[in-house]
Amino acid sequence: MRNEPTPTEPDSNERHAATSSSARARSDAMATKIFTQTPLFIDNTFVAPRNPSSKIDVIDAATENVIATLPEASAADVDSAFDAADRAFPEWSKLGGAARAKYMLKIAEAVKKQSNYDQLALLESHMGKPLAESKWDVDDVAYCFEYYATKATELDGKQGTPVPLPDEDYKCELRYDAMGVAACIVPWNYPLLMATWKLAPALAAGCTVVIKPSEFTPLTLLLLMKIINDEAPLPPGVINVVIGTGRVGQMMASHPRADKVAFTGSEATGSKVMATAAPSIKNVSLELGGKSAIIVFDDASLDIAVEWVMFGCFWTNGQICSATSRLLIHKPLEAAFLTRLVECAKAIPIINPLDPAQAEATGALGPLVAKRQLDTVSRLVNEACKDNHATLLTGGRRPPSMPKGYFYEPTVLHLTPKANGKYPEIWTTEVFGPVLSVVTFETEAEAVRLANGTSFGLAAAVLSADGPRCRRVAAALQAGIVWVQCSQPAFCDAPWGGFKRSGIGRELGEAGLYNYLEMKQVTTYVAGDKPLGWYALPPRSKL
Ligand code: NAP
Repeated sequence: MRNEPTPTEPDSNERHAATSSSARARSDAMATKIFTQTPLFIDNTFVAPRNPSSKIDVIDAATENVIATLPEASAADVDSAFDAADRAFPEWSKLGGAARAKYMLKIAEAVKKQSNYDQLALLESHMGKPLAESKWDVDDVAYCFEYYATKATELDGKQGTPVPLPDEDYKCELRYDAMGVAACIVPWNYPLLMATWKLAPALAAGCTVVIKPSEFTPLTLLLLMKIINDEAPLPPGVINVVIGTGRVGQMMASHPRADKVAFTGSEATGSKVMATAAPSIKNVSLELGGKSAIIVFDDASLDIAVEWVMFGCFWTNGQICSATSRLLIHKPLEAAFLTRLVECAKAIPIINPLDPAQAEATGALGPLVAKRQLDTVSRLVNEACKDNHATLLTGGRRPPSMPKGYFYEPTVLHLTPKANGKYPEIWTTEVFGPVLSVVTFETEAEAVRLANGTSFGLAAAVLSADGPRCRRVAAALQAGIVWVQCSQPAFCDAPWGGFKRSGIGRELGEAGLYNYLEMKQVTTYVAGDKPLGWYALPPRSKL
C-alpha cells in the first residue's frame, strides 16, 4: 500500500470514486479567475508579471477550447523568484530534516483532502489524461511528499556519519548540506507529478526552489501552490513558480542564483539546458526521453503479455518517457500475438477525459496534449508508412468518431529489416504518442542486441516464463529501469533515470535526495599535541 489513509480522510479508493461536477466547476473557475491575472507565485504571494512580453493560451486537449490565458514571466520576475528563494534558503536549510518533514506531511494531507484531490485531478485531465489516471497521479503526489518527509527525518541521523580511515591520528565524518536554490524545469506529460518528483526531494534536502511548468500545462502546479499556501503554508520563498515558455526555462538554467538545475524533458532541450548551465558550472541533473523495448518470448502467457504490451505503450496516451514503444516479439509467437494485440488495441475506448459519462473509465485513451504533439505523431507515423519496411496493422489516424480534440488511435506498426539490416527510423525515434513499433526476433542474443540498439537507455521490459532467462536479459539490458513480467509500474521508493542519452543522475528513492545535497567531509586531527613533523622547525626566536 502506498497511501495509508488517515482516520478522518477517505482512503485512496474512496477518493477515486467521488468526483462531482461541482468540483469540476470549482477547478475550472480557479483556473480562469485567479491564475490568469496573477500567475506567478513568489514569496507566498500570487502576483502578476511585470512587463509581460507575451501570453500563453492553455487549451483543453479534448475540446480545443482555451481554458485560460496567462501572461508570461519577464526576466525581472525570474530575478524576483530567485531573490525570494535565495532569501529563504538560510533558514529553511538550517531548520533540520525533521522540522521540514512536518511541513511536507501537512502538504500531503492537504493534497489528500477530498475537495483538493478532486480539483487537482480534474484540472490535470484537461491535458488529455483520463480522469482515472489523473487520480492515480494525485495519489502519487501525496505519497511522494510523505516518502521524502521520511527521508528528510532520516537525513538528520546521517549528519556526522563516521568514515573509517587508515590513520588513527585523524577522524573523518560526513555531512550532507543542501545545495542551495534549485531551478526546476518540468514537462507537460505528468504536470503535477513531475513537479513533485523535484519539489519533494528538494524540500527534504533543505533546498529552496524556483520551478517552471510547461507552457501547455501550468495550471495544476499553481493550484497545488494555492492549496499549500492556504492549508499547509511553507515559509515565504521556499517554493516559487514562474510561468512561461522555454525562454523562461533558459533564464532559469543560466541564473546566477541557481545553484542546481533539475530538468525533465526531451533530449534536445536537455542538451541546451546543460549547455546553458555550463558556463557557471552548475550541478545539472537530466531526466530525458526514451525509446524503450519490451521483449516477449514465446513461453509468455499470451493475453497477460498483450495487456502489459498495451499498458506499456498506450497508457497516458503513449506520452510517457518510459513507454515501452518497441515490441520485440519472439518468432514462434509472432502471428498469434499480433492478431490478438490488434484485436485488443482496436477495442480500447477513446474518450473525452472530462466527459462525466466516461471519465472514470480505466483502460481508455484520451487526446494528445496539443496540436503540436498530434502533428508530430501523425508526421512520424505517415513517414514510417511510406517505407516498404513498415506495415500499419492498426491505427495511424485521428479517430473519425472524435472530430475535435487532439485524439490519435492506438497504432501498431510491424517493421522488417532493410537490405543493410537497419529498421525504419521510427524504430529508434521517440514518438511520444500511442504508437507501438514491432520487430520479430529469433534468439535471446538478437533480442538483447536489438533492445540495446538505440542512443536512449531509460527503461526496458522482458516477459517470459523462464526465470533464469529473465534475469540474464535484465542484466544485459542497458537501461536504468528494467521491468520483468510487466511494464511501467513506477514507485517513488526506487531510483528512476536512464543510461546513455536518457539522462544524468537519478530521481526518486534515496538517490533522488542526493540530487539536492552536497556531501561534505569533516576531517579532524585527533593526535593532540603530537606534531606533524613534516618541517624541520627552527628554534623559536626570543620575543
Ligand atoms: P521539452 O520540450 O524538452 O520541455 C521540457 C521543459 O523545458 C518545458 O517546461 C519547456 O518549456 C522547457 N524548455 C524548453 N526549451 C527550453 C530551454 N531552451 N531552456 C530551458 N527550458 C526549456 O519536453 P516536453 O515536450 O515538455 O516533454 C516531453 C519529453 O520529456 C519527452 O522527451 C519525454 O521522454 C521527456 N520526459 C522524461 C521523463 C523522465 O523521467 N526521464 C519524464 C517525463 C518526460 P515549454 O514547454 O513551456 O516550452
